[in-house]
Amino acid sequence: MIQQLETSKQIVEEAEQKYKRECKGRSLALTRNVYRLVNTDVFYVESESSNNTYYFVKFKCGVLEWCTCPDNSMRTGGGQMRCKHLHAIEFAIRLGTLRDIDRLPTEAKVRKVVVIPSIPTVSTKSYTNDDYSF
Ligand SMILES: [Zn+2]
Repeated sequence: MIQQLETSKQIVEEAEQKYKRECKGRSLALTRNVYRLVNTDVFYVESESSNNTYYFVKFKCGVLEWCTCPDNSMRTGGGQMRCKHLHAIEFAIRLGTLRDIDRLPTEAKVRKVVVIPSIPTVSTKSYTNDDYSF
């Protein structure tokens, strides 16, 4: 019984998190720059907190969803839950605020990631025993 309650609480929290990310994504799409490199799946989403700082994002709806922000690379576990930048791109496309560019403005800085995931697609990881030996 207790376990069931815990589970439904978790589901509610996840739904809330998702909703918050969608809202943030929408406001990013409306208030910050969202760029797409022409003829690619590469996007740059301006940071919510610092001007001229961009997150490097690869996005192809349902196929490729990868962002350099810590939120996406750590907490959402590879596409399980989208970060606000991925939502921002989707909203920018829908709301028509997306801009195609050849390259970023010269004053723009791109956030670097420390750990780069090797496969930026939907993960089909398979672990071997070697992963657990020390
Ligand atoms: Zn992100």
